[in-house]
Amino acid sequence: MTDCLFCRIVAGEVPATVVAQTDRTLAFRDVAPQAPTHVLVVPREHHADAAACADADPALLGELLAAATDVARAEGLTGGYRLLTNTGPDAGQTVHHLHVHVLGGRPLGGLG
Ligand code: AMP
Repeated sequence: MTDCLFCRIVAGEVPATVVAQTDRTLAFRDVAPQAPTHVLVVPREHHADAAACADADPALLGELLAAATDVARAEGLTGGYRLLTNTGPDAGQTVHHLHVHVLGGRPLGGLG
């Protein structure tokens, strides 16, 4: 059994509120939402972060962003939204399986 949390969510071993899926991606609600809409979009295949995915399968990064945009549309984020992916400790990445945060539903302010 893998110890990667998001691999386990993809496998259905850990429960999550799934909102969308494609053959290569899964979208589910963040367990600790930072905005009214906070969804995580992950590749089904394990890549530790965006850099690892860019090296191994750059097309998958495009599919991930396309899936995230579809989620934002489905969530009705007509006022705008933020797509964000943390890479490494300086960015505060806590789960080392690539994920794109889809944040929206309120003014999000600056990044600082
Ligand atoms: P990051 O800090 O960019 O690595 O983001 C990891 C995100 O995963 C955080 O926003 C957490 O709230 C979220 N998270 C952690 N565990 C779970 C879980 N079991 N289901 C859904 N989201 C989770």
